[in-house]
Amino acid sequence: MAKGKRMLEGKVAIITGSGRGLGRSHALAMAAEGAKIVVNDLGGEWDGTGQAKGPADDVVKEIKAMGGDAVANFESVTDFNAAKKMVDMAVSKFGRLDIMVNNAGFLRDKMTFNMTKEEWDAVIEVHLTGTFYCGRHACAYWREQHKAGNPINGRIISTMSHAGLLGNIGQPNYASAKLGIGALTMVWGREMEKYGVTANAIVPMARTRMTTQTAGLGGMFEKKEGAFDDMAPENVSPLVVFLASDAAQNINGRWLSIRGGKLESWLPPQLAKVIDIGRKWTPQEIAQRIKELGDLSLPSMAI
Ligand code: NAD
Repeated sequence: MAKGKRMLEGKVAIITGSGRGLGRSHALAMAAEGAKIVVNDLGGEWDGTGQAKGPADDVVKEIKAMGGDAVANFESVTDFNAAKKMVDMAVSKFGRLDIMVNNAGFLRDKMTFNMTKEEWDAVIEVHLTGTFYCGRHACAYWREQHKAGNPINGRIISTMSHAGLLGNIGQPNYASAKLGIGALTMVWGREMEKYGVTANAIVPMARTRMTTQTAGLGGMFEKKEGAFDDMAPENVSPLVVFLASDAAQNINGRWLSIRGGKLESWLPPQLAKVIDIGRKWTPQEIAQRIKELGDLSLPSMAI
């Protein structure tokens, strides 16, 4: 274990979906900085089917082998009561909860015109609803603690995606869920500020089974021999560690992306331009003057 002052010493974190991929990397990085971890993972296949205990158990073993402390949780984030049990587990096992990392998820990609109701529902449920359930119970816990007079430095760190920010083709379910998580992040930032809790979202990009199983992502995620492995999931986790720490106290309601060596901030939605005529518009007037609002064609996906 690292010596000296660790950024998350004494803190307790739940990380959903931390049996594999980015979540596993966050769990190892947070444990190395002194946090005790509830390693939640349902252990299913890349498309969300099935379940297994192996992935969460293995990460707990890895953390313990490093000299850290962790406990496995095999619940699904899509179960409201199970999300409460995760918070209860952190408190009963480690005495408190400081950090909720919402990371669990899977893909069921289709073009809108081919997508089934089940594909839509499953992806909205695991990302948007799952993030809400876990955040909801964590917020209730922190509010109670605040009311009881206990000092709180709570953190919610949720996971968005470039697919949501840019509106990726073939991912109507996933993109909608991810941008919805961006909205939840701003709501939680405002609702929980007075209780000593911040909420932020990360926008990662890394080589995991999610990206390698997705058709069309091609070579950009491949390991480059002899060069900086920019798509290694470990490159994302330092941002999660930082946001979870006391050093990030003044960052709230924000979306930050990290991919390889690039640390990037995204502007929150903001009013771009106003033409106020002080009375009702006619459609003809809108047609005449719409150009004054600038270029309104389909936004670019370039990043
Ligand atoms: P991954 O498939 O390696 O990991 C996701 C984990 O979530 C798996 O271990 C899986 O078992 C778990 N999980 C799935 N459903 C669950 C449920 N109902 N309850 C509990 N656990 C569940 O994929 P990843 O790339 O590490 O994805 C992690 C997060 O990062 C996801 O939210 C994903 O959308 C997001 N993300 C990833 C990338 C990327 O480039 N990899 C980009 C943008 C966003």
